[in-house]
Amino acid sequence: MATQGYGLFATEPNANEALECNICGAECLVERNLPVPLGFIAAMAGLDKPRDKFYDEFSCPNLKEKWHKQAVKLVKEIQKTPSKRIAHLMQQDLEDLLKENTDQS
Ligand SMILES: [Zn+2]
Repeated sequence: MATQGYGLFATEPNANEALECNICGAECLVERNLPVPLGFIAAMAGLDKPRDKFYDEFSCPNLKEKWHKQAVKLVKEIQKTPSKRIAHLMQQDLEDLLKENTDQS
């Protein structure tokens, strides 16, 4: 299961036309007006008090790719580490990884 917030987002219905993946920048696939599972949605970012019983789910098309999972891990580690130097190194790894795997042409 993908982690909410890393290439996977829930929003209120039609709140967003399109979203870009915050990991790799790809345009997310969207499924609109999905039924909200009770007790689940409250935990989701930005949906503390959903007015509706439906939500839109945006997910990165690369979410299941191995490199994308690795990128998510790097992003999490960068956020977690107290060391600026390690964060900087991991940031470079992340940039290389994305460069190698996203089609820039
Ligand atoms: Zn992505």
